[in-house]
Amino acid sequence: MRPLIAGNWKMNKFSSDAALLAGGLAERRRGQGDPGCDILLCPPSILLSGVAAALADSAIALGAQDCHPAESGAHTGDISAALLADAGCAYVIVGHSERRTDHGETDALVKAKAEAALRHGLVAIVCVGETLDQRDGGRALDVVSRQIEGSLPDGAGAGNIVVAYEPVWAIGTGRTPTPDQIAEVHAHIRGALGMLDDGAGVRVLYGGSMKPDNAREILAIAHVNGGLIGGASLAVDDFWSICEAVA
Ligand code: PEP
Repeated sequence: MRPLIAGNWKMNKFSSDAALLAGGLAERRRGQGDPGCDILLCPPSILLSGVAAALADSAIALGAQDCHPAESGAHTGDISAALLADAGCAYVIVGHSERRTDHGETDALVKAKAEAALRHGLVAIVCVGETLDQRDGGRALDVVSRQIEGSLPDGAGAGNIVVAYEPVWAIGTGRTPTPDQIAEVHAHIRGALGMLDDGAGVRVLYGGSMKPDNAREILAIAHVNGGLIGGASLAVDDFWSICEAVA
């Protein structure tokens, strides 16, 4: 399965440095060729059109960090999947733990967002992952199962979803699970995806403090089909070396 390396810029970058970052990666991709993975950048929505221009003809895909479940209408400040598709997005992240926490997003809402994404031809990157309390309580696998069951859209399959396992306690903290812990959860998710018709083809990413110095080890773990990268996606050299670590 071809890995996916996705950069989640979160609420970082302004238009000038976003163009430099996206343009620098597009240049790297052109100059160095295919590192052996699909590459995706998810900037803040307000930067999408500038980043789309910087990525034109680059073989790097564009994605967003969230969408609203509705088609259009009275939802001040929100952005629909249709608008994201119109802006050139091919992917959208849904259910990131920061949205589940900051905005109280439930599995049902995440599922509705993912379904909106599918209606507009976007691939939904559905995020799941346990908190430290849940892991310490021995509930990591149960939590992830429940999130998968509740958040995956109807009609999910290899062509329209990606799952990202992101332990909440590893995001932005510099802490990562052990390779055995990552392998256990990814095998569990792979098993749960067996309920889908073509679940075997769904990519399962790892996210949480993946950096150039640990990427190769993490990306080599069984059933890890790429990475969702936060902090290390904000600099060309760091992000590109994670892309190269798939080889
Ligand atoms: C993320 O927010 O999706 C993430 C993985 O962040 P970081 O790489 O900074 O831990």
